[in-house]
Amino acid sequence: MTDEEKRTMTDSNTHKPSRRKFLSNAGMAAAGTVALSVPVTTAQAAQNKVPRWAMVMDLRRCIGCRACTVACKSENNVSLGRFRAVIQEKTTGTFPNTKKNFLPLMCNHCEGNKEDGVPPCVKECPEYPGKRMTYTTPDGDKIRYRGGATYKRPDGAILIDAKLCIGCGKCIDACPYGVRSFNPFVKAGKEPEKQAADKCDLCVHRLDNGLEPSCVNTCQGRARIFGDLNDPASAVSKLVKEHNLANDNNVLLAEEGTRPNVYYIDPDNPLKELDSKRKKGKLDHFVEQIV
Ligand code: SF4
Repeated sequence: MTDEEKRTMTDSNTHKPSRRKFLSNAGMAAAGTVALSVPVTTAQAAQNKVPRWAMVMDLRRCIGCRACTVACKSENNVSLGRFRAVIQEKTTGTFPNTKKNFLPLMCNHCEGNKEDGVPPCVKECPEYPGKRMTYTTPDGDKIRYRGGATYKRPDGAILIDAKLCIGCGKCIDACPYGVRSFNPFVKAGKEPEKQAADKCDLCVHRLDNGLEPSCVNTCQGRARIFGDLNDPASAVSKLVKEHNLANDNNVLLAEEGTRPNVYYIDPDNPLKELDSKRKKGKLDHFVEQIV
């Protein structure tokens, strides 16, 4: 699928019947309270059953095979030397009692801080808020919200509209996780001599057609679990409750106040062992140095 086809599908967010099947199969059809950080009124959100997408990374199950990394690159045409989903690894202990820990990293599709509910990448985007967009809920209700070069959809997906991007890189600098990079093969729509920003988009072209993100679909160890936190019957809701994940110890860089929607089951504590922070002035985990 070309990037233009994906963008068209994402912009229109027209759910096909298969989405209903996906939501039904995953136990996601019902939605509870809605917490949105887009210009959607509380009353409007409460009336509509809006999913709140989240990912749980079960670090007990990740074996560092990087099938997710490859599936993501293949699904999204991620260019050479760049990644949208990576695995950090670190060996601890002393031979022969050594252990390797793996930490999957991706965009956390953050809620944003408690004050304004806007993630730092969206907040820094000079092209946000932009045009009015329409989100269609699984029940067919329409929700209006603001797009931009970087924006948040009512279901929590943080997306990039390359057509509106000016290639300034402010969102890349603003993300404390370093998940964003310039795509050398996509021009910034408003400043075509520059490159557009790029990162994980939760495979919304798949989500809107009833499919899981490609990294989830390909994870044979089922270390990645994806679903709707607004549905108490979804697998992610059950895991968050069972493992008490909704606290600062089970998300990355909680001190940044971004309130990630990616949670980690982390019995061996590699979250603390491994470095997930963006290194200022250096290449990040998501950009490979090719020499
Ligand atoms: Fe934005 Fe970075 Fe949070 Fe993703 S992880 S929503 S790019 S701040």
